[in-house]
Amino acid sequence: MLFPTTIAGSLPKPSWLAEPDKLWPKWRLDGADLAQGKLDATLLMIKLQEDAGIDIVCDGEMSRQHFVHGFLEYVDGIDTVNKVEMGIRADRYKAMVPVVRGALTLRGRVHEAEARHARAHTTRQLKITLPGPMTIADTVADAHYGDKVKMALAFADLLNAEAKALEKDGVDVIQFDEPAFNVFMDEVSTWGIEALHRAIDGLKCTTAVHICYGYGIKANIDWKNSLGEEWRQYEKIFPALGGSRINQISLEAINSRVPLHLLSLLDGKDLLIGVIDVATDIVETPDKVASVIADVMKYVPKERIVCSTNCGMAPMHRNIAEAKLKALGDGARLARQKFI
Ligand code: ZN
Repeated sequence: MLFPTTIAGSLPKPSWLAEPDKLWPKWRLDGADLAQGKLDATLLMIKLQEDAGIDIVCDGEMSRQHFVHGFLEYVDGIDTVNKVEMGIRADRYKAMVPVVRGALTLRGRVHEAEARHARAHTTRQLKITLPGPMTIADTVADAHYGDKVKMALAFADLLNAEAKALEKDGVDVIQFDEPAFNVFMDEVSTWGIEALHRAIDGLKCTTAVHICYGYGIKANIDWKNSLGEEWRQYEKIFPALGGSRINQISLEAINSRVPLHLLSLLDGKDLLIGVIDVATDIVETPDKVASVIADVMKYVPKERIVCSTNCGMAPMHRNIAEAKLKALGDGARLARQKFI
């Protein structure tokens, strides 16, 4: 089937589980109720995706508060109590970040419960997302390794252990989120791809990397406004990505100033194309979605196009996110009729 659909990963959490409309929502349950609530929300998000016509479904990231810190919660060697202020993504944000104070080890499984629960309740392809090693290394302070690359490779080993276990849980696609690739473009080829390769080592399932211009929050919108008329970050990193062993590359396209001809640099890869904008509450029409697919088809063989969202929808209003899911499913269906 042409133009299968998926999402970047996250969806807004139900308001009974966590505060709505926030990127860092506080949980509204605790203990065993929280554990059960996360699984119930996972099931709900799978059902919403299936009903909207999403082919490769995700857990919606219902079990984590934040896409990086949800993983870090299960890592020993990190001090999450005495956080320090650090400029992250080349100082785009100031954030209070945890500090690596010893050798990094995993305390056990990270996403086992939600992956197995999702697997038990859908027959569709299942994707689980993990933060990428470069992005993690840019989101923590280092007081142990003394070398960012060494620390990132240590994280990559932990990600690999979790990814291998997810594959055993029956996950079909494991995606690493690397927004830092769009910030530290030179480092992508010097060590970013090497770290990703460590993270996917030995996997037989489909692997993906998501590289975007971020959620629709103010710091990102201000940053994007500073990037000029044409966003050429992808141009610097695509040659290295094109030569990597990652199967799928997830990119933003709709309402983006990325010149789409750059996509031809990723010859041979499956491309997850953002046809849904997460930085606006305006819901795309199926016609608009189909027109973005048509634009992308000028540079990418249609068999290699997977339709997705530009980024995660975690901080969006729930009703808007649901409408956008439906627009994604309907738009891909329309494109299948038009471009067969
Ligand atoms: Zn993203």
